[in-house]
Amino acid sequence: MKILYPGSFDPLTLGHLDLIERGIKLFDEVVVAVLSNPEKTPTFSLEKRLFQISEATAHIENLKVISFDGLTVDCARENNVGLILRGLRALSDFEYELQIAHTNRSLCNEIETAFLATQAHHSFLSSSVVKEVARFGGNVEHMVPQVVAKDLKGLFN
Ligand code: ADP
Repeated sequence: MKILYPGSFDPLTLGHLDLIERGIKLFDEVVVAVLSNPEKTPTFSLEKRLFQISEATAHIENLKVISFDGLTVDCARENNVGLILRGLRALSDFEYELQIAHTNRSLCNEIETAFLATQAHHSFLSSSVVKEVARFGGNVEHMVPQVVAKDLKGLFN
């Protein structure tokens, strides 16, 4: 079975990567779907985020990286995927993720959402926290893949 892992990944963190790696063990194929959404004005361009993910996941088989714009359920349908993967870090994620899962179910009853809990040592990681640390010159090497650490350095130095 295939699973779609949608997100902004602005940028990819070791938490995202951990979820991808565990998804690969459970499913035949993981499709990472990067939201382009130009209205959100991401820190990293879509091309940059796609490149970061491809670099950081080069060692992983059965993984596809795509971009999408619009509804996640439409992206899932277009790629023939019936399952969406989302991550849970803490209780605070739960409310938001449940709301999205219910919204997606109301739009398309055939598509299910599966949640994987992050590993405890990655539970504090988010793209925004990583950017905040990097902005003030903090070390992010234990938070993001090497390629992202390099890009963050380039962005804020
Ligand atoms: P979005 O803008 O769609 O929330 P994100 O890139 O922030 O996109 O997150 C994508 C998914 O990855 C979400 O389900 C989020 O909960 C999950 N996620 C983010 N950080 C982590 C982490 N450290 N561990 C596990 N899951 C995470």
